[in-house]
Amino acid sequence: MGQLLTFDLEAKTAAIRELLTGCVRDYGRVVYASSLGAEAMVLTDIICTDVPEIEIVSIDTGRLHEETYALLERLERRYGNRMRIIYPDAGELSTLIAAQGINGFFHRPERRAACCHVRKVLPFRRFVAGYRAWVTGVRREQSKSRALLEPLTWDTEHGLYKVSPLLDWTAEQVWAYIRTRKLPYNALHDRHYPSIGCAPCTRAVQAGEDSRAGRWWWESAEARECGLHPGARTAAAR
Ligand code: SF4
Repeated sequence: MGQLLTFDLEAKTAAIRELLTGCVRDYGRVVYASSLGAEAMVLTDIICTDVPEIEIVSIDTGRLHEETYALLERLERRYGNRMRIIYPDAGELSTLIAAQGINGFFHRPERRAACCHVRKVLPFRRFVAGYRAWVTGVRREQSKSRALLEPLTWDTEHGLYKVSPLLDWTAEQVWAYIRTRKLPYNALHDRHYPSIGCAPCTRAVQAGEDSRAGRWWWESAEARECGLHPGARTAAAR
């Protein structure tokens, strides 16, 4: 069983390597947008090890958990200064806070969307201008909306190709890769946080809940996306 799992992982890893190498060949400038979740540990390791042409970026919204900053430091130690961190625009953030308050996102869905837009979507959109493709770590089993995604699509919202190499990976396979390679990961995963975003908008999940149930838990399941995956939101809703 252990041997089968290892073989399966090796085959799956080789398929990702091939897909990403093909993306670099076909599109040239490719960037991986790391969520810093468990899936990101797998893709970061494959990219840093085998496809160094792909740049890696992650967004510091200013509201991340302390455990996430600790993870960033461990990633720096393992991979060097490989990941670019980007931030919201100070002026846009100041205007947002003046309009809706420091925690306005809790009180109305449109305020939550506005916060994600200023802290995540706009910095991402500015950064990817000039790239031909971006890589994401979404998986189909994470939610009903993500189950409908395809591995290679044209991202009309951001104007470049979107590549999702982990779509068919299970959580078990992600963790098998992390453990086999002894990768760093966010300590919150050991406290029942399968999906980790900003600190105020993420909580631990209960047994039986889906992996994204702790994200924006006060909203309907159809609305639980931040705007970086508009296809998923449209298909059922992030
Ligand atoms: Fe704002 Fe919460 Fe979205 Fe983070 S997850 S950008 S704090 S609404």
